Amino acid sequence: MQPLGLYLHVPFCVDRCTYCSFVTTRDRSLQSDTIQRLIAEITEWGWALDRPAVDTLYLGGGTPSLLSATELQALTTAIRSAFDLSPLVEATLEANPGTVDLAWLQQARNLGWDRISLGVQALDDDLLARLGRIHGSAQALESLELARQAGFHRRSADLMVGIPGQSLAKVIEDARTLTATGMEHLSIYLLDLDKASPLRAEIDAGRLTLPGEDEVADVFEALQTELPALGLAAYEISNFARTKAESIHNSRYWERRPYLGLGPSAASQLGDCRWTEPGVIQAWIARRGDLDFTELDAAELLAEIPLLGLRMHRGVDWQALRDLARELDLRPLCDAWEVRLRDLASEGLTVWADDQVRLSARGMLMSNAILGMFV
Ligand code: SF4
Repeated sequence: MQPLGLYLHVPFCVDRCTYCSFVTTRDRSLQSDTIQRLIAEITEWGWALDRPAVDTLYLGGGTPSLLSATELQALTTAIRSAFDLSPLVEATLEANPGTVDLAWLQQARNLGWDRISLGVQALDDDLLARLGRIHGSAQALESLELARQAGFHRRSADLMVGIPGQSLAKVIEDARTLTATGMEHLSIYLLDLDKASPLRAEIDAGRLTLPGEDEVADVFEALQTELPALGLAAYEISNFARTKAESIHNSRYWERRPYLGLGPSAASQLGDCRWTEPGVIQAWIARRGDLDFTELDAAELLAEIPLLGLRMHRGVDWQALRDLARELDLRPLCDAWEVRLRDLASEGLTVWADDQVRLSARGMLMSNAILGMFV
């Protein structure tokens, strides 16, 4: 079995952001039971899979930086005893700028966590307040600096595009400011509004307006030029990194390498099987609720390769896909996709180099429509 990626979901936040769709709660009274259950899950999976090798760790949420130093140590110790970490190449933790101090960051670093992903979102206090973030822009920049002082040389920040009231110029300026801190990785996401979120209600009531699609496309297009000039090359639709600083854990999702996700709502992929843990935190703690289990058929497995692979800038080896399609007796399906992807080349949306195909910068902007052919 090839090494796994291990993801742990920590479902607690100080407050709920106005756009959030993640499984998270402000009810910290559940925190201790959640950590105990996570430790039990880690131990049980380590035993069931015979102490498998793990090469990437990711502590996400929620806000993992709300864990006490003792809780973080207990989780890390459980991981070390249940899994073989000898091939470990990356251990990322997510943090919210409003929740970290130097002592906590140093403790995390001493425990072996070597990469930090900070949810900065914007460097504008009005926009951050609109998003319901618990921090201001100065605190976000200070947290990045504290992470550096604590020894995190691998730092990433999330930035959001499409916030009501956000200008194109401000997104570019924020990206420049963040890059100037020396950080090595930037994830730039389109604001994704949960249907039941307070921000969606404000927009539906006409009190706020989302930027137009063209405006948002202009921002992404400008970033495709700006960020490489600042030393961060695009390697995936939403992700930019300095040389050799790509997120190895997140890349495994697009490369379809195996991962085990533990915690409420966490997703796993082992072989052809996928499952998601129950998303209600209390049910998850009490071991109630069914796993949402899926086994992909051959056509779905084949489709996943371009569906995920074309998100990455290096694209997909189409000859390898043809070979696999032949083995699976699915060559007509593969050939039909190829015809459409070659047609898109004449519109400047895909680029073919021999048998390697990728989306162009403009194709990346229209990726939802293009990748829809594989769903
Ligand atoms: S910090 Fe992240 S997980 Fe928590 S409420 Fe905000 S967006 Fe959601």
